[in-house]
Amino acid sequence: MCPFCGLGCDDLTIEEEPPSTLTVRSTDCPVAREGYSRTTAAEPPRVAGIPVPLEEAVEAAAAVLAAAQTPLVAGLGTDVDGARAALALAERLGAVVDHALSDGLYRNLAVLQRTGWIATTLAELRNRCDLLLVAGPDPAALHPRLFERWVAPAPALQTPPSREVVFLCGEPLDSTRAALSGLSVTVLAGDSARVGDAAASLAAALADPSRASGTASIAAGDIAALAERLAKARYAVVAWAAAAFDGTHADLTVERLVQLVRDINRHTRCAGLPLAGHDNVVGVNQVCTWRFGVPLRTSLAGGAPLHDPHRFAWARYAAVADAVIWVSAFRPEVPAFPAEQTVIALAPPGTAFVDEPAVFIPVGTPGIDHSAHVFRSDTVVALRARGLIDRGLPDGASVLKAIAAALPEEAPAC
Ligand code: SF4
Repeated sequence: MCPFCGLGCDDLTIEEEPPSTLTVRSTDCPVAREGYSRTTAAEPPRVAGIPVPLEEAVEAAAAVLAAAQTPLVAGLGTDVDGARAALALAERLGAVVDHALSDGLYRNLAVLQRTGWIATTLAELRNRCDLLLVAGPDPAALHPRLFERWVAPAPALQTPPSREVVFLCGEPLDSTRAALSGLSVTVLAGDSARVGDAAASLAAALADPSRASGTASIAAGDIAALAERLAKARYAVVAWAAAAFDGTHADLTVERLVQLVRDINRHTRCAGLPLAGHDNVVGVNQVCTWRFGVPLRTSLAGGAPLHDPHRFAWARYAAVADAVIWVSAFRPEVPAFPAEQTVIALAPPGTAFVDEPAVFIPVGTPGIDHSAHVFRSDTVVALRARGLIDRGLPDGASVLKAIAAALPEEAPAC
């Protein structure tokens, strides 16, 4: 199973060319090809840029974290085991926790928290959906096999099976057009920055066709015709990838789409499909929620979890944190932090740093170096990815547990 985006494709053929080069044979998916191509040879951990044994790096990381007053445990690009270990360490430290990709996640979660939503699964999309409305930029840019795997196959639970796809305020990629070549596809390209306005116009036209108005460079007649098709669908799905929306208030766009789903349900069955899931952001958020009762962007400093999606966003909290432990097991990427900040980085070998971190511990990639559980975009399924090669790298969970074990003993409660 491929762990590199939230679709969880389980049909890949991957060949190893010794000593440890992986080549994806069965798909052109660029995200999978890039993910599996990152198999740089193992390298030793470093403390202040000097190679050291793993035990020494773990001790150094523990010493930094033990002295921290406002630690941040972030990045969190890791599997379910890694997330559990990271959150346990954060609880011990009284740290703030967040995921590198939580901006996209929060465009959806903010709406879920404010209004609730009607959402569906990838399986329901494939088996039941007869009208798919894709809102905004083509999600295949982030989830390349969405249409090939979940939309192009005929819906198994529709009689007779039929499906059409409408792109609203976005153009399908060439690969999407190819994947959908057997289906009816309508493109209302419009202005992608105004997809929320188009959703509002659709909602108005659903309530009263005479109120259909042109918006986002889409003609009133097209809005009216789409509203009519949505009302007559047997099972409509509205899909979007919030991470692809522009602007600082993209959650308001998501809110309009969620409201449109609600309005369509006055006429027929409809559900939303928010797409996310790179670097297991969905799974890490699930772990945080089941462990602390609240999602990411939470502080564990006060003895009880304090959730504040604004204050505890990692990029904001990094400005006041005195030590950062950044986990990025899926990608060799660690952001630049202020020079005076003490950074402990757990990332794949070959990671390039703007400034050498205080401690760098190379870790294996889930689904390449070790087996791993990651969550699918629709949050309902945790899938297991097999380990494929052995580069002699520790997994993130083991390193995080070792750091926690190396912290000084906590004083007994009075
Ligand atoms: S679409 Fe996503 S899960 Fe499927 S092969 Fe590509 S990266 Fe992997």
